[in-house]
Amino acid sequence: MSAKPTIDGLLAELKALARISEGEPPVVTRVVFSEADMRARTYVKGLCASAGLTIEEDAIGNTFARWAGSDAELAPVGTGSHIDAIPNAGSYDGTVGVLGGLEAIRILQRAGFRPRRSIELVIFTAEEPTRFGIGCLGSRMLANVLTPAQAVALRDKEGRGLEELRAGAGFRGALESVALPAGRFHQFVELHIEQGPHLEAEGLDVGLVTNIAAPASLRIRIEGEGGHAGGKLMPGRKDALAAAAELILALEAAARSTGSIDSVGTVGVCEVFPGAVNSIPSLVRLETDIRDTDGVRRDGVLQALKDACVEVAARRRVVITTELVNADPPALCDATILDVMESCAMEAGLSYQRMVARAYHDSSFVACIAPVAMLFIPCRGGVSHRPDEYASPEWIASGVHLLARTLERLAS
Ligand SMILES: [Zn+2]
Repeated sequence: MSAKPTIDGLLAELKALARISEGEPPVVTRVVFSEADMRARTYVKGLCASAGLTIEEDAIGNTFARWAGSDAELAPVGTGSHIDAIPNAGSYDGTVGVLGGLEAIRILQRAGFRPRRSIELVIFTAEEPTRFGIGCLGSRMLANVLTPAQAVALRDKEGRGLEELRAGAGFRGALESVALPAGRFHQFVELHIEQGPHLEAEGLDVGLVTNIAAPASLRIRIEGEGGHAGGKLMPGRKDALAAAAELILALEAAARSTGSIDSVGTVGVCEVFPGAVNSIPSLVRLETDIRDTDGVRRDGVLQALKDACVEVAARRRVVITTELVNADPPALCDATILDVMESCAMEAGLSYQRMVARAYHDSSFVACIAPVAMLFIPCRGGVSHRPDEYASPEWIASGVHLLARTLERLAS
């Protein structure tokens, strides 16, 4: 494959897709199964059809656009991402992986390449948690990490269920059919903006992702005893917020103690009842986020927090209950794909670095059924999930070019 492609067509398509929004430009809002989501799907499927790809959709709306290889027996190489967007988002999160993936296929088509393995562009349903409160809905179900029974129980803020909403969007068929077996994809590569400042700050063209960190989330409820802040003296108090303070510090200490920079623990929500200056807090609700690239280490921090709950409850004579909201698997990217990407980057004269993905992506779940890797391009200032999210044409061209070279090798 020759020099970097001109990607004017792709840039125009990214602009056109960004205009399909529930918000006024430059705001991009495309919540799953909304009218904008459906129009965006139609637009992207039209582009795929124009490129000669065969399109299939599953019961949850995951879309598979296939460029048939010469050996139909072989499992395809997959690429893709998502086109849904949180409220007040920008133009590049997810879409660079979808339209950039399509452009990579078209680059190979124009170069006269004939893949041995089919190359399949996947558009995952609802990577963003906006509607159902759970991220990566489509890829989660595809990997059977979220079962049909769990999926059916999902509701949006208006109380509408997944079954009603997907039927309204035209996606029928049994949810049991969404899960794919291991081996369905030979390998999978996702192109995505970094959503962090590292690549731009270092002046690098691309990042080759080695690990995708994953969060666990524990909800904690602390019930103490309220009372007058003046009348009730310190001995015998059961202050729920003082107990919460100990837990917050216990989580921080546990995350710091692993010896790895990749361990992080955060308490992002702390609700205090009754929340009056002269009243002892009787009830506190905490929401915690614990992430790591290593699942065992992450679960160790989680366990340390749970142990602290038991210890603090006994010592302070408060009632502490916990609820595990989720504990998703971190993903290790495939060494073979990484080596292929690295040698393609060197051939193409691109500057690169191996790096960790700190937010999760559809690839986190595809990793349960196939070898995966991710390819990051810089985004200005690390800004994402905002209307001023920006990736330059040069950055996008480098990413798409490297993706095309990688797919060429993997599908040969
Ligand atoms: Zn994304």
